[in-house]
Amino acid sequence: MSKKVICLFDVDGTLTDPRQPIKPNVEKFLVEKVRKEFDIAVVGGSDLVKLKEQLGGGSIFQKYKYVFAENGLIAFKDGKQLPTETIQSVIGEDALQDLINFCLKYISELHLPFKRGTFIEFRSGMLNVSPVGRNCSTEERIQFYEYDIENQIRQKFIHALKKEFPNLALTYSIGGQISFDVFPIGWDKTYCLRHIQGYDEIHFFGDKTAEGGNDHEIYESDLTVGHRVTCSEDTVNQLNVLMALIKENKEKEQFTVPMQCA
Ligand SMILES: [Mg+2]
Repeated sequence: MSKKVICLFDVDGTLTDPRQPIKPNVEKFLVEKVRKEFDIAVVGGSDLVKLKEQLGGGSIFQKYKYVFAENGLIAFKDGKQLPTETIQSVIGEDALQDLINFCLKYISELHLPFKRGTFIEFRSGMLNVSPVGRNCSTEERIQFYEYDIENQIRQKFIHALKKEFPNLALTYSIGGQISFDVFPIGWDKTYCLRHIQGYDEIHFFGDKTAEGGNDHEIYESDLTVGHRVTCSEDTVNQLNVLMALIKENKEKEQFTVPMQCA
């Protein structure tokens, strides 16, 4: 019996360029080639609206068996939404408000080359905190990203949060170019795995697999076979390798089974 496999993909930097829609050739490859062999699923840190913008709008549910926004706090199987939790239900309204207030104060005292709007985005399972503001243009995102590499703005911010709230069971995760996520411990991308059932192997593909990256925990998880990729072209290449390998194993099985019977 051949194994039942599902391929689960991170979005930004894995299926798409950061915050950009999926390229037609990548989508065609997934839908026409990969989906013939395995079920496919996506897990992103951003909300469902952004995920849909990047992955083909309403038809996202026809293409992917599972769609996980916000690390799986917003979860769909075959287009049907699964039950969910919220950050406020877990850490409580008071602690949450202290955290938000601290972030706003910290940001107000930061001096950067430029600032735009939407510094904190509240999602079901996390806060997304952006020192520069999420409303910046694609060009400004890149500028901030480069500035951040040199000046460690996000790292220092996270350090201040950990110091201020040592008792909150929270994880701080740098993903993308301009922000970091704050969520209850365990609500990283491994959260979505609780929804995936009935497979022998879950192959996960992600670009931020190093420690501190938002794919790290799920990449390292015992429940997944992890694939580290550099961009969507690399994802396509690695999928081709995986499909060739599985095909080869299937052929071997077909060859060995009758031999065993004889
Ligand atoms: Mg990514």
